[in-house]
Amino acid sequence: MTATYTLDAGEIRKQFPFFQPHPEMRSVIYLDNAATTQKPYAVIEAVSHFWAHHNANVHRGGHGAGAKASELYEAARARVAQFINAREPAEVVFTRGTTEAINLVASSWGETFVNTGDEIIVTEMEHHANLLPWMRLAEKRGAHLKVWRITDDGRLDLEALDRLLTERTRLVAVSHVSNVLGTVNPVAEICQRAHAAGALCLVDAAQSIAHMPIDVQAIDCDFLAFSGHKAYGPTGIGVLYAKRALLETMPPYQVGGGMVQVVRWERLVWAEPPAKFEAGTPPIGEAIGLHAALDFIDSIGRDAIERYERELTEYALQRLQEVPDLRLYGPIPDRAGIFAFTLGDIHPHDIATVLDTRDVAIRSGLHCAHPLGERLGGATARASLAIYNDTQHIDALIDALDEVRRVFGLARA
Ligand code: PMP
Repeated sequence: MTATYTLDAGEIRKQFPFFQPHPEMRSVIYLDNAATTQKPYAVIEAVSHFWAHHNANVHRGGHGAGAKASELYEAARARVAQFINAREPAEVVFTRGTTEAINLVASSWGETFVNTGDEIIVTEMEHHANLLPWMRLAEKRGAHLKVWRITDDGRLDLEALDRLLTERTRLVAVSHVSNVLGTVNPVAEICQRAHAAGALCLVDAAQSIAHMPIDVQAIDCDFLAFSGHKAYGPTGIGVLYAKRALLETMPPYQVGGGMVQVVRWERLVWAEPPAKFEAGTPPIGEAIGLHAALDFIDSIGRDAIERYERELTEYALQRLQEVPDLRLYGPIPDRAGIFAFTLGDIHPHDIATVLDTRDVAIRSGLHCAHPLGERLGGATARASLAIYNDTQHIDALIDALDEVRRVFGLARA
């Protein structure tokens, strides 16, 4: 097969220390990008430069170093706002990650605006991060959690959503891209239908932020969450985007330093958003690393990334479907580069272990989406792509799967 690919992943790998030979590490074919991505030199150097030369607390110090740290931290916020096309930086709240961002919404907005008898709609494909906060909120507030089931090919049917929405629906919580099925959900249409019924819409963009352009105004979501570490950035930093008007009405999530204007024994006045939601010393170096990660992504170009990953996904789908006894989950061919599969009745952990002996890194298990795992019939193995992967990596995966079949006696003699 002769296909031409629109990006040279080998060139991109040169920007990542993880892919350079090192005495402490065997070189691996890294196909666990849905769990976390590797970090380019640019991100590591930005963080290290901050710790080495600009370290100070933000929004506090009456000195130049503090002012510089604050400037860098706020520049990171402005960069995020621009990256997702928020109307203003104040719509960007820094959190520890997607999980904390969604917990913030469930605690602050949810416990204020969701009441007995109200309804929250979640999809059957949600990661626990976008499921457990809503299950707990429903339990606490006496609300109903309604499940938007997936179709047999792993998609969401918009008409089914219309049947679930009622005048009691307060929120639809949906992932942009499923971390198991690779399904790319039509989030703009989902938000539009939610709004038509008077509900809000929260988009979990953990698996899409690094892989396709995202425009929060075009999607018209009320909330959107993502993690830096799945977008070539550091761990410990994530983003909650929320419409300004909502942030104004929401009470603080945590309270403490940096989020308050007036503290008297008889009176508290919270700071304006986003400071209202950032109690305590924030992850400053990590925010600066995230800034560098977004610059890295845009240096390649999000359209170019989306196009290349689509090409690679097509190749992976074709090759995976050639493997005897392999069952692939999720929509075909229209999906992101995340492939959950089983191989005969071999346990997915055994698949991952044998692949590891061939230096192919994938994940196995229920992928923090237990209800979806139940629907699929149990654990799966999962390979997931990023911009530095190429067809040789897919070929190595396929060869290693042949080895798994041989080891477990599935291969014909
Ligand atoms: N949502 C989805 C779809 C995810 O894939 C993940 C991470 N696997 C999360 C949320 C949670 O992200 P984090 O652990 O970075 O908070």
